[in-house]
Amino acid sequence: MFIVKVIPEKCIGCAACTSVCDNFEMEDEKAKVKKEKLEQLTCEEDARNVCPNEAILIKREG
Ligand code: SF4
Repeated sequence: MFIVKVIPEKCIGCAACTSVCDNFEMEDEKAKVKKEKLEQLTCEEDARNVCPNEAILIKREG
């Protein structure tokens, strides 16, 4: 199980994550994860890699 989060204080609202991964969307000029708990990652690591401010966290649980 993976947990994916955006740290709102770090998000600068550039929307880069949403352009590479459809599990992210913009809301009030911040990125938001649509589904935070995932059995498998698909594009979430790509989103983390393009984020210019290290605002995306991916944790492995269990
Ligand atoms: S790429 Fe990072 S800074 Fe840009 S919107 Fe997504 S989470 Fe926020």
